[in-house]
Amino acid sequence: MPTFIRFNSLLDQAQKALLLVWGTSRGLMLGLVLATLMAGVLPALAAWLGQRIVDAVVAAMQLHAQQGSAPLWPVLRYVLLEAGVLALLSGAQRALSVQQSLLRVQLGQKVNTLILEKAQTLSLMQFENSEFYDKLVRVRREASTRPLGLVMKSLGLIQNLIMLISFGVLLLHFSPWALVLLVVGALPVFFAEAHFSGDAFRLFTRRAPESRQQNYIETLLSHEAYIKEVKLFGIAPLLLKRYRDTFARLYAQDRDLTLRRDGWGFVLGLLGTAAFYLAYAWVVLDAIHGQISLGQMTMYLVLFKQGQSAVSSSLGAISGLYEDGLYLSSLYEYLAEPVHTDTGHLTAGEQPGDGLRFQNVGFRYPGASHAALEGIDLHLMPGRSLALVGQNGSGKTTLIKLLTRLYRPDHGRILLDGSDLQEWQEAALRQRIGVIFQDYIRYQFTVGENIGVGDTRAFNDERRWKEAADEGMAAPFIEGLDRGYATQLGRWFAGGQELSGGQWQKIALSRAYMRRDADILILDEPTSALDPAAEAAVFEHFSQHAEGRMTLLISHRFSSVRNADHIIVLERGRILEQGGHSDLIASNGHYAKLFDLQARGYR
Ligand code: ADP
Repeated sequence: MPTFIRFNSLLDQAQKALLLVWGTSRGLMLGLVLATLMAGVLPALAAWLGQRIVDAVVAAMQLHAQQGSAPLWPVLRYVLLEAGVLALLSGAQRALSVQQSLLRVQLGQKVNTLILEKAQTLSLMQFENSEFYDKLVRVRREASTRPLGLVMKSLGLIQNLIMLISFGVLLLHFSPWALVLLVVGALPVFFAEAHFSGDAFRLFTRRAPESRQQNYIETLLSHEAYIKEVKLFGIAPLLLKRYRDTFARLYAQDRDLTLRRDGWGFVLGLLGTAAFYLAYAWVVLDAIHGQISLGQMTMYLVLFKQGQSAVSSSLGAISGLYEDGLYLSSLYEYLAEPVHTDTGHLTAGEQPGDGLRFQNVGFRYPGASHAALEGIDLHLMPGRSLALVGQNGSGKTTLIKLLTRLYRPDHGRILLDGSDLQEWQEAALRQRIGVIFQDYIRYQFTVGENIGVGDTRAFNDERRWKEAADEGMAAPFIEGLDRGYATQLGRWFAGGQELSGGQWQKIALSRAYMRRDADILILDEPTSALDPAAEAAVFEHFSQHAEGRMTLLISHRFSSVRNADHIIVLERGRILEQGGHSDLIASNGHYAKLFDLQARGYR
């Protein structure tokens, strides 16, 4: 991309960043602008006063030589003024850094909130797309530094530009050509910086997947949840090797870029320095020839010195600006990610009481070669229960994700009470469904809150927690905990207590029972970690409370499955057999064979 186009988009990004800050805190933004202006203008004023001081001193010395004395005030006046200017300047710089610290906190919070809020509007499918996920990780990782960096560098650049322009105005008195010489000398290194900054960002973007892998390995090696298996399998050396290898590859790329960038920076920087010293020599010669005063010479030399450092800090700002700006463009790309807006508005179906219907439903994961589900027809009426049986990967969980509208079917329709699932209002639909997935979340919250998440309206309602825990059969063990429902669970936070797999599962079941109004209850292997007695009790209880509800159960245990009114056997995404338990046994097909296999295991 030509540099000037990138420069344009950079201005665009800077503008967005400034708007972001404006939206975060107007007071701080105005304060920053004011301090920037002051910090930009004051150095030139100080240099000009410096010239006045030297010239006044020279005049006073001449007067002293001629008359034996000279008034001090004309000189001291300027010294006093310069002291005042420097005090102001240091005030402006302090104001910049104070406001920057305050803004950093606010802006980080603001951008993180934007990112997290946006994440809630995205579909599960988007999260499962690794490219998208990379983007999310990337924007989150740098959310608290990049936007502020962009703003501060933009302001820093403006400050330096003001400074350089004001220096330029002073230098114009000396010679316009000296000014041209300095500007032309600085340009090549400026373009080189811009060029390599673009490269750096592309590198950074391209290797996001690898960085993510690095992070993942770090988690595996340092996280409580994984360390048990890592230790027992002794995979740490293997993981560490992978960690080092990835680093070595990334480092090689980094090193190449850094070397090229700094190599060119040095060579082109020499051009700038040459221009600078040419102008310097010119000033010195003019002073010797008496064409400028000693004060002017001092001033020009100060201007050169400070101008040089303003140029080099502008260069630093520009190179950082590109990276920050490109970060910001990913942020805006992420924020502009299309969301599937909730078009549905139905809160009741066309045929209330019709229950759930799948009509020739098919679904394929993006990029998958086979459909995960194909030609699925089923009907589940209120008060009835349905069990899904099938090998791992046969499509059971996918069916539930379609039913809960986490995905949209590619073919066919899913109807609830006679109306297409897609036409239902999101909130109305969610109210009707209670689901526990196999990989339910073990929240690092208190016991009560772990149950309360099942119904946000009753999140803190202790009475409801207890009712739900009774139904989920968690109450007896919860009451045995030191702090009962107030016990912190998990080990992440102080005082946390870990539960057994079966106890967690009872918590998850209770969570599902929090949804009293839900008339579709979905349990994806809800009892796999329970002992057989507990499991039997769960289902006993479950069938008592299933009245008028639709229940959908996934389980590998036939002792649970056999009680369902209807059983569907899935294989490779298709329905292989269906019917009641006794019909399926009688027809002596796949189900009967699996049942027999499991029953034999118990005999
Ligand atoms: P089950 O619940 O019966 O074990 P799933 O519904 O989870 O089976 O999976 C059905 C098929 O879809 C499998 O072949 C699996 O590899 C594939 N699959 C499951 N989840 C995803 C996913 N998030 N992305 C891509 N493919 C998936």
